[in-house]
Amino acid sequence: MIPVEVVQQELCDAGMPGWAAILPRQIEQALTADRHGDLGRWRYLLQQMPDIQTADIDLKADILRIGQVGEINENTRQDIYQTLRALQPWRKGPYEVFGIPVDTEWRSDWKWRRLSGHIQPLAGRKVLDVGCGNGYHAWRMAGEGAELVIGIDPTLLFLSQFNAIRHFMANPPHVYFLPLGIEAVPKGLECFDTLFSMGILYHRRSPMDHLLELRRCLRPGGELVLETLVIEGGQNAVLVPEGRYAKMRNVWFIPSVEALKNWLQRCGYRDVQVVDVTPTSTREQRRTDWMAFESLEDFLDPSDGKKTIEGHPAPLRAIATARA
Ligand code: SAH
Repeated sequence: MIPVEVVQQELCDAGMPGWAAILPRQIEQALTADRHGDLGRWRYLLQQMPDIQTADIDLKADILRIGQVGEINENTRQDIYQTLRALQPWRKGPYEVFGIPVDTEWRSDWKWRRLSGHIQPLAGRKVLDVGCGNGYHAWRMAGEGAELVIGIDPTLLFLSQFNAIRHFMANPPHVYFLPLGIEAVPKGLECFDTLFSMGILYHRRSPMDHLLELRRCLRPGGELVLETLVIEGGQNAVLVPEGRYAKMRNVWFIPSVEALKNWLQRCGYRDVQVVDVTPTSTREQRRTDWMAFESLEDFLDPSDGKKTIEGHPAPLRAIATARA
């Protein structure tokens, strides 16, 4: 399911032999079947997938495209459709697989559009995407010419979705999904040219430690691209929600833009810039045919869309860039 030896070689080539050495054991632990009862089913689904690969992929398209409808017959199309359906819920995307539209909960391409013009060009860079979801943005990074993209995310469903997409690529780019949390990344690697942390910071109990940890993964001068929830307010405005935020149980700190800049500077980053602030809309995050559970609409106050159902400010998201 994961080409561990290939990733080990990539890590060595990128100057991270220490990580390469411990990787097999990390992956083995992460995949221990009893960690998630569904893993066996997802593996089986992936094994049953038609053995078809295409060189016709478009990683620059908003709707990330793998193959064309004319490359497969109707039976194969049905098989692929059923497998992809069985891997629900699909949160990050969208994708189109041999003409099958996978309309995900999030229009993750909107986030990509908001940031792509503001970051250091990715061509030739080694990138770490922390909390990469099913890998949508990681593929987009490769589409921009990144030399190596390591996506990490502990959620095994997202690994399975990533593998389902990768399965159909005849010449997959150097994009790898490791089912690991940020805790598993060795401290002080100082190797990555660009590091993405998107949708993670507010889930961290110690946001400063997270920012420091990320800085030490970057080579000196490397770029952090940070996306997080923010609130309105001045340098000392930070929301620590009592109980839930938009029905999420694990939200700890939501800073204002000014507080976020201050945090980054305090953690030793330079050239801190907030390049975008956008409220999340119910067109960007919504229930779809591929994600049948509750979505943003259900997390907002039905009588006041500017508030969450708990009475907090509705989701507003900022993108910051900074140099290690
Ligand atoms: N970066 C993506 C996904 C954000 S959702 C985007 O911006 O669209 C947050 C992701 O963090 C989830 O996929 C979740 O599985 C992952 N996650 C949870 N705990 C994590 C940890 N300890 N380290 C890294 N990722 C984690």
